[in-house]
Amino acid sequence: MPAPPVERLIQQLARLPGLGPRSARRAALHLIQRPEAALSPLLRALAEVEASVRVCGVCGNIDARDPCEICRDPERDATSICVVEQVGDLWAFERAGAYRGRYHVLGGVLSVLDGVTPEDLSIDALIRRACEPGVREVVIATNATLDGQTTAHYLADRLKPAGVAVTRLAHGMPVGGELDYLDDGTLATALRLRRPVE
Ligand SMILES: [Zn+2]
Repeated sequence: MPAPPVERLIQQLARLPGLGPRSARRAALHLIQRPEAALSPLLRALAEVEASVRVCGVCGNIDARDPCEICRDPERDATSICVVEQVGDLWAFERAGAYRGRYHVLGGVLSVLDGVTPEDLSIDALIRRACEPGVREVVIATNATLDGQTTAHYLADRLKPAGVAVTRLAHGMPVGGELDYLDDGTLATALRLRRPVE
């Protein structure tokens, strides 16, 4: 049996997403056996995040400043707001480097099963932002799951009075994808949303 402090560390690590008890034990051993190379840098990183990282009061991004760098950046297109479920989705867009507008992080999706209602998400704040002068488009980039779709329809409805263009990410063939490997839903949607060859 590990000593109580080690056991507590394993328990905390096992609560992290993606880490089960087995990987938590391995991670704990790795940290303990490498105090200089692994444990101390991790402690410093955790302390720094705790001390400096906050949620952006405008868009829900996490950053060392509030409003976040993206909201403050005058180079970014303030006429367009891209709605994502989680900060991780915002990071995915930033990695792709294909979007130059602003974001809005909902904090989840509507879900009957999980009891998530509009009040649990940052929806009122989104509507307020969409009504601000200068905003022309809201891109809904929720996931292509059932709850993601339901949320997109709900948002489109709520956004109507704002008088902005409401768009939705396209579904279809992934770049580099092969027909034979696509699931039925993706293939059917790609066919339904086909476009003229440019
Ligand atoms: Zn922000």
